[in-house]
Amino acid sequence: MKITEFTLSGDPPISISVRRSNRARTLRLKVSRLGGVVEVAVPSGIGIDQARRFAADNRQWIMTAVKRSQERIIPRFGSRFPLEGNELLLRKSNGAVPRCDGQHLNLQCVESDLPAVLGAHCKRLAKSKLDASVRHHAEFLAIPTPRFRIKDTTSRWGSCSARGNLNFSWRLIMMPPVILNYVVAHEVSHLAEMNHSPMFWKIVERLCPQYREHRKWLKNNGSIYLGYQLL
Ligand SMILES: [Zn+2]
Repeated sequence: MKITEFTLSGDPPISISVRRSNRARTLRLKVSRLGGVVEVAVPSGIGIDQARRFAADNRQWIMTAVKRSQERIIPRFGSRFPLEGNELLLRKSNGAVPRCDGQHLNLQCVESDLPAVLGAHCKRLAKSKLDASVRHHAEFLAIPTPRFRIKDTTSRWGSCSARGNLNFSWRLIMMPPVILNYVVAHEVSHLAEMNHSPMFWKIVERLCPQYREHRKWLKNNGSIYLGYQLL
């Protein structure tokens, strides 16, 4: 049987998922930002016992990485911030409204207000992009344009209730536009198929042919965006 997970005993016990890798040359540990999920990459030819010993030897490193993964990123002037897939440099400016020019996002506020000002900007921008995307996909499926709400959920990027109400996380605006587009395509498709059947995925594919790629990207990278502390 293929082992996909093991637990390091101790205080606290640490559960580690195993990823078999043909590309990895050595055993390697990784901790994701979302809730500090620990993974060990195991090259071919290396046994699970060796992976377990390696993880045990690096227990302290894992503990530190897990702790760091739960830290929040508070935006500051001079630091970078992802918006629509671009890493923008946050810059203090005199303009009344946040303005993006090339590599910079110019904002007029004191640094302590940055999480709130940036948060409001993200939500505004998210609303307009989500609105356009929802309209586009509903039109494509020839269904009435659904209403949606913007939330800050940590577990789901989008959802569709049994009554057909859509919800999206405004954090999608930080990601590349194709990702926002995929999440909207996914939820709008639920208005036609309220499940995850093959029929449902067929509809998603019509709206978003590259959806597999985007889904994988979201799984691998989505948690990074939860770390940003905005208001
Ligand atoms: Zn779904």
